[in-house]
Amino acid sequence: MKRKSYTQSLADLKSRGIRLTPQRQVILQYLKETEEHPTAEQVYQKIGEQFPGISLATVYNTLNMLKELGVIRELSYGDVSSRFDGNDSEHAHLVCEHCGQVLDIASPPDEALITQNVQQAGFTLSSYRLEYYGTCASCHEHATYQNEHAS
Ligand SMILES: [Zn+2]
Ligand SMILES: [Zn+2]
Repeated sequence: MKRKSYTQSLADLKSRGIRLTPQRQVILQYLKETEEHPTAEQVYQKIGEQFPGISLATVYNTLNMLKELGVIRELSYGDVSSRFDGNDSEHAHLVCEHCGQVLDIASPPDEALITQNVQQAGFTLSSYRLEYYGTCASCHEHATYQNEHAS
């Protein structure tokens, strides 16, 4: 399944009889058009540039609502703030252990096989989350630079 655009998602919601207020539309649009996986606070900061009157509570409510409607996803990381993902297709993530950046990558090609194994176990899958942890390009570059200058 391909990632749905903002206009597709909005049309989907409309066809289900769901209408979003302009503030909520802007939040959905931001998440659909960014490659980043922002926290609620980051969404609040970004949307606040356009709607200075918006409250953090409205942002949280909207994110929860959009998540329940299935148009965005929430990635929770224990004690650290959840990140929100406008990419509603099945995909995997690269998570940087240093700066917390989350990048999308296509699901591995053996995904179909995994689904088959799950079915064999008599398990009904609702969703899954696949994450690879490591160091992002900019943190790696930074570390290399520091090492070179430490010696
Ligand atoms: Zn990083
Ligand atoms: Zn993602």
